[in-house]
Amino acid sequence: MTAPGRLAIGLDIGGTKIAGAVVDDLGTVVDELVEPTPEESDAESVTAVLLSLIERFRARHDVVTIGVGAAGIVEWPVGRMLWAPNNAYRDWPVREQLEKVTNLPVRVDNDANVAALAEARLGEPYPNMVLVTVGTGIGGGLVLDGQIYRGPTGLGAELGHIILNPDGPVCGCGNHGCFEAYASGTALNRMGREAAADEPDGLIARLGREQGEVTGHTVVRAVELGDEVASALFARLGRWLGVGIASLANIFEVDAVVVGGGLVETGELLLAPARIAAKEFAYAPSARGVAPIVPATFGGDAGKIGAALLALEYI
Ligand SMILES: [Zn+2]
Repeated sequence: MTAPGRLAIGLDIGGTKIAGAVVDDLGTVVDELVEPTPEESDAESVTAVLLSLIERFRARHDVVTIGVGAAGIVEWPVGRMLWAPNNAYRDWPVREQLEKVTNLPVRVDNDANVAALAEARLGEPYPNMVLVTVGTGIGGGLVLDGQIYRGPTGLGAELGHIILNPDGPVCGCGNHGCFEAYASGTALNRMGREAAADEPDGLIARLGREQGEVTGHTVVRAVELGDEVASALFARLGRWLGVGIASLANIFEVDAVVVGGGLVETGELLLAPARIAAKEFAYAPSARGVAPIVPATFGGDAGKIGAALLALEYI
């Protein structure tokens, strides 16, 4: 167990913003700063923002370590960012660079991994947990026996790309029928566009014309206005989410499945059908039970808090 009172800087590099916090051993945020992700989003420009945040935090707090969660594929434990879908940085030795400049120990991991760590450790602790984040894509993290599961070099646990149907829609990764292609914000956009094309006089199509295009937001709005077609799309999306969750829960026997990401703001609209499907596709539920599906506690703050907690583990 960690000693209380030590402080770490947690930094979360996303596609649009870089969120920072000073966090103690108990996960309490004692200070926060946020900066937009620089437009170039390459290693040099992002490093400059990270160092500026670190300098400002260190002027105000006595921190012992730094944790970074970053969108992209991060090699563990060396902390090298290999590639990211939405940022330009490539082959970037984040850990080495930051340690050299700050003289502090640094840990770097994937943003979803550190978010999973925060959700697993804090609040109601779940020693064995899957975090599924439903946003533009599907990300996630796996915490087993209280530790992030990464595979041998940190590249494991790509939960959004389990294949639900090899003949399914094409995924952002180039494969077909991934979990992400069926149950993400991108999937909802596609389903909304298809529904609008099928029914040009339907509410989704009409709202789309008013807004200039049909997106997932159009579908959410149509649900709020009582449109049955839109409600059915959400039921389908939620069902696919539940199918993916059931597959994960069948493999790992987890204490809980935590669902985070932007689409969770739609609440029961998504989670109710997901729970039904997760139960329907659970393996031997009478013997194994069905893991509860709960919304994430920390939302957008999970990344920076988890990054700090991860760094404190190694002090
Ligand atoms: Zn995929």
